[in-house]
Amino acid sequence: MLNFALGPVMSSDLVLEIGSQQTPYFRTPEFSQVNLENEKLMKEMLYADEESRVIFLTGSGTAGMESTVMNVFNEDDKVLIVNGGGFGQRFVDLCKLHNIDCEDIKLDFGSCLTSERLYEYDGKDFTAFLVNICETSSGVHYDLDLISEFCKKNNLLLVVDAVSSFLANDLNMVEHGVDVVITGSQKALACPPGIAIIVLSKNAIKRVEENTCKSMYFDFEDMLINGVRGQTPFTPAITVILQLNVRLNQLKNDGGIEAEIKRISDLAEDFRSKITEFPFEVKSNCLSNSVTTVHSKQKIEANIVEILKNEYDIWVSTARDDLSETMLFRVGHMGDLSPEDNDTLIEALRDMQKRGLF
Ligand SMILES: *Cc1c(COP(=O)(O)O)cnc(C)c1O
Repeated sequence: MLNFALGPVMSSDLVLEIGSQQTPYFRTPEFSQVNLENEKLMKEMLYADEESRVIFLTGSGTAGMESTVMNVFNEDDKVLIVNGGGFGQRFVDLCKLHNIDCEDIKLDFGSCLTSERLYEYDGKDFTAFLVNICETSSGVHYDLDLISEFCKKNNLLLVVDAVSSFLANDLNMVEHGVDVVITGSQKALACPPGIAIIVLSKNAIKRVEENTCKSMYFDFEDMLINGVRGQTPFTPAITVILQLNVRLNQLKNDGGIEAEIKRISDLAEDFRSKITEFPFEVKSNCLSNSVTTVHSKQKIEANIVEILKNEYDIWVSTARDDLSETMLFRVGHMGDLSPEDNDTLIEALRDMQKRGLF
């Protein structure tokens, strides 16, 4: 199986090996040490300052999104949300569900966030800004420098869902003035799903402490207190935490976050140059390094995603734009993939073309 889907992704052999072992008991000094080291490594990779804290929450990335909305915001907030696809809409829905006042910047699917659109909201009464910096449904990566400057100017608390962009595009919490970063174990961290990671700045921690969270399981304050000694209130996805530990150490030893961003960016570029031989198009000029959204130049009857999976054992993600009939599939560049793997996918597409499928 060769997996170019957008999470879960291909894991390294070391990570796979841990997955095959018995799950250890977790109320031990050894496991506390693992948690504390994971916190330290995550902070290093995000350039978070000393006072920042990291929460490892057992749940998928959406648990990270929802718990952040529940713990960081309150009824006095007015949140501005970038909404250019499925994940932006999820933040809008979550804020509405939890009675947080919000407004969204609606972008056409696949469009970049321009300064003109953003500054329509300048000088208003917002208190916070929510963005999925890579809107995985379209593959668009929004301009973090632009957003960061806007938030600093308007004194907005900045929450960045970097689930599909951490390790693929630059993110510096201190320089970009980011208060909360949300990511997950199954995207570029290349572990199985199960852990959402939330990194909180001092500012965000203060809000968590002042707010009352109406949930026992999702209570950040409880998690932060337990986290001081490297523990969690409830049983975590222990194996995934052990896998994260190996993976984070591996990343650190292989040149750190910069090396991984470059590797993923090179892999994306390699794929985008190779796909040009087909009647396909890569349309957006603000694509994330983590994903390439491939369009066709004309309507194609064959279900390329299904055929790749069933006949070539290659997995790519479906595309979800209901507006465009020409969109085909999304190819991820995260995880244990190489340029040779790109060649395997290109070879399969060549074969499909020979068969007259497009
Ligand atoms: C994958 C992803 C999530 C999390 O999705 P889950 O299915 O809950 O893990 C959140 N935000 C973005 C931008 C994502 O790509």
